[in-house]
Amino acid sequence: MRKFPTPQLIVSKCLGFEACRWNGMTIPDLFIKKLEPFVEYRTICPEVEIGLGIPRDPIRVVKKGNTLSLRQPATGRDVTDSMIKFSNGFLSSITEVDGFILKSRSPSCGIKDVKYYLGTEKSMAVEKGPGFFGRAVFEHFSDIVIEDEGRLSNFRIREHFLTRIFSLAHWREVEKVMSISRLVNFHTDNKLLLMAYSQKELRLLGKIVANHDKKPIKDVVADYGHHFKQAIAKTSRNTSNINVIMHTLGYFSEGLIKNEKRHFIGILDKYRQGAVPLSSPLSIIQSWISRFDQKYLARQTFFEPYPEELCEITDSGKGRDY
Ligand code: SF4
Repeated sequence: MRKFPTPQLIVSKCLGFEACRWNGMTIPDLFIKKLEPFVEYRTICPEVEIGLGIPRDPIRVVKKGNTLSLRQPATGRDVTDSMIKFSNGFLSSITEVDGFILKSRSPSCGIKDVKYYLGTEKSMAVEKGPGFFGRAVFEHFSDIVIEDEGRLSNFRIREHFLTRIFSLAHWREVEKVMSISRLVNFHTDNKLLLMAYSQKELRLLGKIVANHDKKPIKDVVADYGHHFKQAIAKTSRNTSNINVIMHTLGYFSEGLIKNEKRHFIGILDKYRQGAVPLSSPLSIIQSWISRFDQKYLARQTFFEPYPEELCEITDSGKGRDY
């Protein structure tokens, strides 16, 4: 079993940590609760930070021409400047972070699907986009994981999120050491994961590690980190995961009986159809890795990219984009 690093996450405070919503409520989130023992959370409520108080009159994003502002219709207050100032100050002060989980659809925290209005009077929303704090997070952190709690109810998005936060936390540990042997080990451990995510980046990362140009270790590590983050930025395709799984089957095929293979191919088909998460076929492979004492595969993060206690197949996020 892998020893996992502790991802550092920043989370909207109203997601179960404090009753800081405009109406004095909190919104507990099962996944965030379940993740708590494995990560370090830092919570934030941008609206409270700019002094709006609890409870408070709600605010909204107003779009006039190309200009967005953050307004409180009941009081006529314009909190655009204070929110921008707070967001930039807070986000610039963060040195170690692997991801964000922000409250969906909030005019402050939302990362997408936030309603934009033409004015402060009662009216229909005319457009959707990120909230003010959510937008600033994207501007400050282009290469880490930024999600909202709504999207994380979809198991494919959740698997990708978990894979990324634990991979990024692992990378942070390696990056600090500045050692070529740690870098080589990291690359070896992640070979199959990278093969599933991006063959092109895998090849490039292999060249960076080989360092034929004899660059200083500092530059090699910086280059590697940049491309590693890029490699795992987009969800791996089902077909790529299946290709990697089929490739690893070769390590066991002689030791498996017909029924085991048939059962496994059935699970793989269900994964292909989107009926079960990737963790389902991977857990079977993991049991074979132990049974056949397959040392090379045992070190591959692809088979256990995050703690198995976090695997679950419940999914209430049908129809979301990845
Ligand atoms: S969505 Fe963000 S700003 Fe609104 S209550 Fe939650 S943490 Fe505070």
